Amino acid sequence: GPPAGVARNPAAYRLRPMTDDAPSGGRTPAPPVREQPFRELPRMGRTVVLTFDDGPDPRYTPDILSTLRAHDVRAMFFVCGEMATYQRDLLRRMAADGHVVGNHTWSHPQLPQLTRSAIRKEMERTSELIEDTVGAPPVWFRAPYGAWNRHAFEIGAELGMEPLAWTVDTLDWTTPGTDKIVKAVRDGAGPGVVVLSHDAGGNREQSVAALRRYLPELIEEGYGIGVPLP
Ligand SMILES: [Zn+2]
Repeated sequence: GPPAGVARNPAAYRLRPMTDDAPSGGRTPAPPVREQPFRELPRMGRTVVLTFDDGPDPRYTPDILSTLRAHDVRAMFFVCGEMATYQRDLLRRMAADGHVVGNHTWSHPQLPQLTRSAIRKEMERTSELIEDTVGAPPVWFRAPYGAWNRHAFEIGAELGMEPLAWTVDTLDWTTPGTDKIVKAVRDGAGPGVVVLSHDAGGNREQSVAALRRYLPELIEEGYGIGVPLP
């Protein structure tokens, strides 16, 4: 059967019209645009979704990939183009291991401070790099700092991406200590919970060490660890 923790209903999170009155005359209606990101993915059952932002970083991402591989689970990596362009092998390894490569913009700006065309450039350039590298464009997008605006939702939809925020912020970027990161994940774990961590942007040794501890613990508790499929 499919690997444990992988969503059984791949289409569960694709955009759907809010009404049934779509025109039937052959013209495809424009997809509705979300005004809020997904913050959890509850249709996945007792599965926790692990996400890693801001990478890839050759100092930390390989260790995270190795830990995920050792436990045969899939996660999501929201990469920045300016990092990924120098780490294409890591992107390919993510894809080869079944992880989801998401779009986290090119240079990690505060999107609401940019013009619409600058936002589009940040997002489009990153999607193109991901597609060029792994053979498919990203279908998930996450705004840096969780700072979304209407342009970001609209452009994301135009580029074929769904917006994903998170349920549990490990605050690992504050380097609070491995114990606190593990506790944040353990306390926050639940069906469809999306966990935010980082594999780049500073010293991420605590994030790497924490994953090695909480991942087997979550599995032991009966959680699936998985990703929404496109
Ligand atoms: Zn970020």
